[in-house]
Amino acid sequence: MTPDRPPVEPRGDLALMEGYHSPQLEVSVRLNTNESPFAPPAQFVERWLAELRAAPLNRYPDRDARELREALGKHLGHPPERVFCANGSNEVLQTLLLAYGGAGRKAVTFEPTYALHSHIARITGTAVVVGTRAADFTIDPDAACALIAEARPTIVFACSPNNPTGTVEHPDTIDALLDATGGLVVVDEAYGEFAPRSALDLVRDDGRLVVARTYSKVWSMAALRLGFAVAPPWVVAELEKVVLPYHLAVPTQVAGRVALEWGDEMTDRVTRLVAERERVSAALDALEGVTAFPSGANFVLLHVRSGGRAAWDALVQRGVLVRDCSSWPGLADCLRVTIGTPEENDALLDALPASIAASIGAPSAAPSEKEGA
Ligand code: PMP
Repeated sequence: MTPDRPPVEPRGDLALMEGYHSPQLEVSVRLNTNESPFAPPAQFVERWLAELRAAPLNRYPDRDARELREALGKHLGHPPERVFCANGSNEVLQTLLLAYGGAGRKAVTFEPTYALHSHIARITGTAVVVGTRAADFTIDPDAACALIAEARPTIVFACSPNNPTGTVEHPDTIDALLDATGGLVVVDEAYGEFAPRSALDLVRDDGRLVVARTYSKVWSMAALRLGFAVAPPWVVAELEKVVLPYHLAVPTQVAGRVALEWGDEMTDRVTRLVAERERVSAALDALEGVTAFPSGANFVLLHVRSGGRAAWDALVQRGVLVRDCSSWPGLADCLRVTIGTPEENDALLDALPASIAASIGAPSAAPSEKEGA
């Protein structure tokens, strides 16, 4: 039985917060959460299981995840002291906010962007100062610097490629943000491998730049939950202080290290997905009443003139699930579509014109999604 009121009230500042909303519907074509459409290579799974069979499961994992950090650092061209690993890049973001945010501190975001930046900030008691992106969805350096000068945040988030718009920031913008703030600049590169440029090489021991990445997309490991930050060692040391001991389970640590041996195959997959992105984006943009925005990620944002929510509903009826972004700030009538296999992408391209036609005149349901995947 559920009481009318919970017997214990949660923190007062949680009362106005919404949880994470991204419908997980059973449909044949799932293009809504930006995962890899490909399973991890079979040989990788075999190697991973073989290592797990030999692992002492009665013992806690290595708290410092040394082997993983060394292998990953080598792969990225950074020393292991600059690498922090966690359960998905969401846990990386949370740990950054626990260490550098909190009561009396501020984080700056530029909307529309990944909703979890502001959501996790609020959960950690960090005040959120919201800037707005330019019409082409880039961060306007002048406006951003003025906002930062006034707000004096300890963390500035820049998502590049930006979820859900796909926009890739220019390195000059990242430099301008670093010049403007005395705090950390966190570039969320969850989709960095799909983009023509990255801020990874700009991370320095004496700098304030942090780059967050994930194994959930290119590496086909969303189910395993592994993300990482490349950051100055003094930042990594603070993150290690606040994260829970033994947070990274052995299966996750082993998977992250073993996966790197399939780096060439992953690079091939990226090349194929980027080619598909360009094909799908051009085909979508050619549809009457649809605009596709340029993307450097494994998804494309669309504007549907006749109504985003109604088109989303009609697509679900046809077994294609995409992300309804129409309630996100500045994204009325926008949908975000993940690039899947060529067959899945064709299913979307087949279903969308009919969905738009069916939805014209259909009453538009109240948008229900507030958070981003
Ligand atoms: N950052 C961005 C921009 C994302 O889109 C996502 C995944 N939706 C994440 C971080 C979190 O990814 P994960 O926790 O799976 O690494």
